[in-house]
Amino acid sequence: MKDEFSFIQSIQPTNHHHPTVITGIGDDAALYDTDSGYHHIATVDTVVEDIHFSRRTMTPFHIGYKALAVNISDIAAMGGQPLYYLVSISVPQSGWSEEELREIYEGMSELALKHHVDLIGGDTNSTRDTLVVSVTVIGRVEKGRKLLRSNAEPGDVVFVTGSIGSSAAGLDYLLKLGLEAETDDRLKSFLRAHQKPEPQVKAGRLLAQLNKRVALNDISDGIASEANEIAEASEVKIELEYEDLPFDTELANESPDDKEQWMLFGGEDFQLIGCVGEENWTHLKETFAHEGVPLHKVGYVKEGRTEVMLKKDGTRIHLEKRGFNHFNKGD
Ligand code: ADP
Ligand code: MG
Repeated sequence: MKDEFSFIQSIQPTNHHHPTVITGIGDDAALYDTDSGYHHIATVDTVVEDIHFSRRTMTPFHIGYKALAVNISDIAAMGGQPLYYLVSISVPQSGWSEEELREIYEGMSELALKHHVDLIGGDTNSTRDTLVVSVTVIGRVEKGRKLLRSNAEPGDVVFVTGSIGSSAAGLDYLLKLGLEAETDDRLKSFLRAHQKPEPQVKAGRLLAQLNKRVALNDISDGIASEANEIAEASEVKIELEYEDLPFDTELANESPDDKEQWMLFGGEDFQLIGCVGEENWTHLKETFAHEGVPLHKVGYVKEGRTEVMLKKDGTRIHLEKRGFNHFNKGD
C-alpha cells in the first residue's frame, strides 16, 4: 500500500446510518452516543489468509463480506441489532493491491448497507506473508434480554432458523474446482452460502422481542458443535431429529453421506440454533411465519446427562462436539 492515509480516506463512509455517531473515522477513536434502554453488545472475529479463507475460493469482495457477516451473526445470536463496526487490516508486503483491499471494504459495505451498520474506525498494519482482517461489531439489545446458551431447560423445543450444510457443500466444490465453480449454475446456492452468508439478524430480533426465556447460538462450526455448546452451557441433554433438519433442495441431489457430513459438521451457515419453552413454540412459529422468516423445530431438550443425541433411521447416535476443519480434511 503506497499511502495509508489516502487508503483510509478512500474507504471512509460519506454519511452514517445512525445519528448517534458523533465522530467516526478521522480522530483518535470513535465517539458515539448510547441509549440507556439497551445493553450494548461487542464482538470481534479475525480471519487469517490460508487459515480461515483462501484466495482460491474467495474473491476480495467475499472476504470482506464474510469477515463482517461472521461478526453480525454473533450480534444476531444475542438477539441484537448491529450498529457500528471497526476493521483492523494487516497487509503483507506483496500480493495484495490497493484495489483489492478496497474490494474487501466494498464487500463489507454491501452487507453493512443491508443491516444499517456504520464503519466508525479501524487500524492499518503490515504483516510478513498473509492477510489478516479483524472486524469488531458493536450492537445493542433491549435491557433485560439475555439470549444466552445457558438458558435451555428440559422440555424446551429446539429450533433452527434455516438451511444447514450448504456452506460446507460450497466450500467442498470450491476446493475441488476453484472459482471456476462460479460458472456452474447448479452450484449457485452452495457458493452463495459459503461466500456471502446471511446473518440472521431478523430472526434474532424476533426472538429477543418474544420477551421469554430463549437459549441461542449461531451455527458457525456446524450444528453438532453448536448444539453441544448449548447442552454444556445449560447442563441438559439435547435430542435432534435428523429428518427434521432443514436443507436446501439442491443438497438432496448430493450423496447421502456428503449431505449428512455437511449438515451435521459443516459450519459457516450462520443460521441460529436455539431453545424455547414448548408453551411459547406455537406463538413463536406464527410470529416467524407472519414475518416471512423460516423457523424449524428440530428436536427437544431432555432431562439427563449433558450430551447431544441424534435420532436417525430409528436409532439414536451420540453427536460429538466436533466441527469441520476445512484445511486439515482427511490428510
Ligand atoms: P491513530 O494513530 O490515532 O490510531 P490511525 O492513523 O491508525 O490513527 O487512524 C486514523 C483514523 O482512521 C482513525 O479514526 C481510525 O479508526 C481510522 N482507521 C485507520 N485504519 C483504518 C482501517 N483499516 N479501516 C477503517 N478505519 C481505519
Ligand atoms: Mg491506529
